[in-house]
Amino acid sequence: MKKIVFATNNEHKLRELKEILSGKFEILGLKDIGCNEDIPETAETIEENSMQKAEYVYRKYNIDCFADDTGLEIEALNGRPGVYSARYAGEEKNMEKNIEKILSELKDKTNRKARFKTVISLILNDEKYQFEGIVNGEIIKSKQGAGGFGYDPVFMPEGYKITFAEMSSEEKNLISHRGRAVQKLIEFLA
Ligand code: IMP
Repeated sequence: MKKIVFATNNEHKLRELKEILSGKFEILGLKDIGCNEDIPETAETIEENSMQKAEYVYRKYNIDCFADDTGLEIEALNGRPGVYSARYAGEEKNMEKNIEKILSELKDKTNRKARFKTVISLILNDEKYQFEGIVNGEIIKSKQGAGGFGYDPVFMPEGYKITFAEMSSEEKNLISHRGRAVQKLIEFLA
């Protein structure tokens, strides 16, 4: 069976993709190929960052691979935090502080439109591909819900009266940015 590396340190994402593609591809994690270093993520867009990670693994370990990168883009903040979503309030990547920062920047704004964007970059048989998933929604005024992670408690997807943090993971995966990008990847690989 063909082996593909998913260049992520997130065990949850890795397990999910292993399950979905079982029988078709053998999905390996970074640990499986002996990659224990931090992969550089120094680009200025989500697209470039995700390709940077895939290229790093492809060049250094000479194996087909894919990587993902996600950002929250808030319209009234000119698309910020975007590629800086994880470290918006500082390098310690504290989500409480990140959420506080966007809520305070949006305090006097009536336009609360936002979207999550995931880009998956795949390098397969020396060809490069990208798959994008987007979910539109808005940033609510204070946190709601205890599920999910990241900005989920303040993100209400379009057409819903609950936040991502109030949804089951199945419900979120069906409509989420990452769910949609992964679906495109799976359709391509399958
Ligand atoms: P990553 O590229 O998946 O590591 O995501 C970058 C940052 O975006 C994370 O640290 C989170 O803050 C945020 N993020 C990514 N996906 C989600 C999500 O599904 N819900 C809420 N926040 C997310």
